[in-house]
Amino acid sequence: MRAYDIILKKRLGQELSAEEIGFLINGYMDGSVPDYQVAAFAMAVFFKGMTARETADLTLAIVRSGDQVDLSAISGKKVDKHSTGGVGDKTTLVLGPMVAAAGVPVAKMSGRGLGHTGGTIDKLESIPGFNTALTREQFIENVNRVKIAIGGQTGNLAPADKKLYALRDVTATVDSVPLIASSIMSKKIAAGADAIVLDVKTGSGAFMKTVDDAVNLARAMVDIGTQVGRQTVALITDMDQPLGRAVGNALEVIEAVECLQGKGPKDLEELCLTLGSHMVHLAGAAGSPGEAKKKLEEIIRDGRGLQKLKEMVENQGGDPGSIDDLSKLPMATGTSAVISDRTGYVSAIQAEQLGIAAMTLGAGRETKESAIDLAVGIKLVKKVGDKVSQGEVLANLYLNDESKGKKAKEMVSMAYTIEPVAAEARKLVIGLVTTDGVILN
Ligand code: URA
Repeated sequence: MRAYDIILKKRLGQELSAEEIGFLINGYMDGSVPDYQVAAFAMAVFFKGMTARETADLTLAIVRSGDQVDLSAISGKKVDKHSTGGVGDKTTLVLGPMVAAAGVPVAKMSGRGLGHTGGTIDKLESIPGFNTALTREQFIENVNRVKIAIGGQTGNLAPADKKLYALRDVTATVDSVPLIASSIMSKKIAAGADAIVLDVKTGSGAFMKTVDDAVNLARAMVDIGTQVGRQTVALITDMDQPLGRAVGNALEVIEAVECLQGKGPKDLEELCLTLGSHMVHLAGAAGSPGEAKKKLEEIIRDGRGLQKLKEMVENQGGDPGSIDDLSKLPMATGTSAVISDRTGYVSAIQAEQLGIAAMTLGAGRETKESAIDLAVGIKLVKKVGDKVSQGEVLANLYLNDESKGKKAKEMVSMAYTIEPVAAEARKLVIGLVTTDGVILN
């Protein structure tokens, strides 16, 4: 077999066999297929696409390039959740404890943030003492005992994806549906989930700017899950403005706690209940997503979700008292208000711009090596649809370094679009993609 023939076959739009795809990925990992041939292959896939079968075979070849987590020592069906990335997305912090309180094991490996989107591990590390570096044994023992553990990734999961992604990043081949779908699903499958709930974001702050593109990506991922025997459903959700009001690590933990207290922003609560209900349903702990949603609403109302978060914090070495007394979390020394220079209605908030503004304050990393400030960030006072008068506060910055405030303030101000008439509200949950098809709300 030769890499040249495989590239040519794909360039001509023909279907590759599992052996051909495996040959290319294995060769890439052992050095016998050079970067430039894999780059040419990625470009051929970009233009010619892949069938569902080819995409599943590519995913499995990537999975086989590294370790596969064995979660079989955890009793019950393990359902994982993945979001394609958003600004202010703290859903794991809310739905993890909620789903665990419903009796479903949550064995979650999360990442750190890079660029304009935050990472769950950074957020959790703003809880004093919280340890995200669990050994495999601790991780499994914690899930069996309290039904939930959230840790950083251990082991060498899907190394071919890391290499391939770095190559795609510099060859203009990131935004190809089969390549994104296989990249995301390879990591979920290697992490050992029995079933997967995907949150595919669409809008200004997302990879997929249009609903059609988001549906195509969701379909490709659901197809992969189905082909490799992992039940998968995907929700299409709006990221045309940040989720909730808080952007920044400790600020997002506070908002997640408020949500578990039943006092969170409605959009965040709705998304957590919807994603969580599909997790509980897939795990077999409810007869339908509707029934699961009722269970989760009850879990928020009676405080079991909050209690589960405290249990998880204590179990991972953190101070559960910091959940009762949120002033124990890192706090910024100063605040600065972003004032509206117009009267009207907020019609859009560029989520990506806001994420970059939070990064400018120190809440996110520009490079993998950057240190982050867990206390700083942004809280939105006005969201899409709100009426605003000239001189009113749009958002508050939480900062430790005044010199970073000016630029961030300009960016936040620019992120807001204010128009004379109110725009029609966008739905938060736009659709559901399952093996049975697509349902748009
Ligand atoms: N996220 C991933 O993990 N992979 C991609 O290719 C794109 C987004």
